[in-house]
Amino acid sequence: MALLHQQYLERLQQELPQLQLLLDQLDSPADWRPLVAKLLASFHTLAGSAGTFGFHELGQSAKVLELQAKNWLAEAQAPAAEQIDSFRHIFSQLRQQKRLVIQQRQLPVATKHDEKKQTLIYLLEDEGDTARHLCLTLSTFGYVVEWFKQSHLLQAALLRKLPDALIIDIELPEETESGLSFVERLQQQLPQQLPLFVISAHDHFDFYLKAVRCGALGYFVKPVNAQALEARLQRLLAVRQRDAFRVLIVDDDQLLAKHYALVLETAGLRAEILNDPADIFAGLRKFHPDVILLDVNMPQCTGPELAQLIRLQDEWLGVPIIYLSSETDSERQLAVLIKAGDDFLTKPISDNALVVAIFARAQRARQLSEVMTKDSLTGLLQHAHIKERLATELERSDRAQQQVSVVMLDIDHFKKVNDNYGHLTGDQVITSLANLLKQQLRKTDMIGRYGGEEFLLVLPDCPVEKAFGVIDKLRESFAGFPFSFDNQTFYCTFSAGIACGNGQLQPDLVIEQADQALYQAKTGGRNQVRIFATPTADE
Ligand code: GH3
Ligand code: MG
Ligand code: MG
Repeated sequence: MALLHQQYLERLQQELPQLQLLLDQLDSPADWRPLVAKLLASFHTLAGSAGTFGFHELGQSAKVLELQAKNWLAEAQAPAAEQIDSFRHIFSQLRQQKRLVIQQRQLPVATKHDEKKQTLIYLLEDEGDTARHLCLTLSTFGYVVEWFKQSHLLQAALLRKLPDALIIDIELPEETESGLSFVERLQQQLPQQLPLFVISAHDHFDFYLKAVRCGALGYFVKPVNAQALEARLQRLLAVRQRDAFRVLIVDDDQLLAKHYALVLETAGLRAEILNDPADIFAGLRKFHPDVILLDVNMPQCTGPELAQLIRLQDEWLGVPIIYLSSETDSERQLAVLIKAGDDFLTKPISDNALVVAIFARAQRARQLSEVMTKDSLTGLLQHAHIKERLATELERSDRAQQQVSVVMLDIDHFKKVNDNYGHLTGDQVITSLANLLKQQLRKTDMIGRYGGEEFLLVLPDCPVEKAFGVIDKLRESFAGFPFSFDNQTFYCTFSAGIACGNGQLQPDLVIEQADQALYQAKTGGRNQVRIFATPTADE
């Protein structure tokens, strides 16, 4: 930030004398129009940027000069001598103002999350079977579970290290204290309340209420449905952390763009700067922004023109476009918004205001796009959208010269699950597999629900051999994963086919190849992973 500020000062050092030269020519009556237009543009930029870098008075003076220049042009009459004098006077005052105090900035601080960090869970449960079932399920999903049979052991562990969540059985007949009052006392002793999940034999209002008062985020009646508990844990702990919101900044003022990018990044968002509006479509495709932050006045094409251009393609209809400009005239702002765009922020803007405005927009846009693109049962990408991502990824990997693995995965004999245990249980199996994939794959991997019990995975920067290792490990975990229905336990398996994708291949062809490999896994006996091999001539 300090460096950007310094660079801005240096830029002022060059720009102000140039502006002075322009001002010196104002008396010569030849053709004043281009000259005033140039002044207008310069003071407009200055009015927008100076405040952002902490030179508030300078920005205000520039705004006055900008409006004056605008009036001259509007009146179509050469400025009078005394007008020029007063203009110069304001400018000379403006030049004195550079020594202004720089405002101390306070940025919202991003909470950092470590992608690889495993979630630690403490389980208090006196029944061995329930505990083992839970431990197995949760560890399959990648959690680290520590199991305690007695409350004093749990308390001792809490003194050593705090977990990310507590799962507590509130019926502990061996103990002197009732489960819920123990939990209540425990939460009071802790430095901060821990996310709490309660296991209980009682399906009764009074118990639910007490649990809520102890800070419970989940209440599970025995026999515990481990998958449901895991799904809730995953949702509440947001274990698979969201990707940071992405903001594409289009501004011809490099320094200002860098400043916004830095402010947004400090707040935990991701920002990318586009200096040449002509690169807009490539930029959008590469970066997939949640929000576009657009300057209004740019030399090559205006912000509203660019916004209209973006709106020509359906693909980017859902991305909010926010103008950031020193234009304060609300009529003009409206005129711009009516063409295209969603909101107008006025320069100079405080760092906090910028972050909050962008964050709110990005969050809303992300929610809407999730509703539109994600499957409601599993939260995975829907058929059309995973295919779209695959196409984009194939192009990207081609440029980056990386290998993409494409995996088609299908649950074995799933019809039987539905027939034997009902459709609801079937749904649960699908959800569990989806959660397992979300939990165990990388954040950059893309997961789609391709059909009913069929999944399409796109693994960027991952050669097929490596993909085989990953998927085969998942296959093993899933196969060892007990599901329960009416006190019966059953197991499911899946088969998978892997194909190697690159930019030379059409997405449909790669999917077709993964599908062929899947078919071989099915005919080869199911519960296995196959890699697509190009058939030889005699096959
Ligand atoms: P294979 O091992 O060859 O894949 O056999 P399969 O029985 O899994 O395959 P098949 O494609 O014949 O049957 C899939 C079944 O999945 C049929 C359909 O009723 C069921 N199904 C599809 N979508 C859902 C869903 O959302 N929920 C549930 N419970 N079942 C679904
Ligand atoms: Mg199947
Ligand atoms: Mg199927």
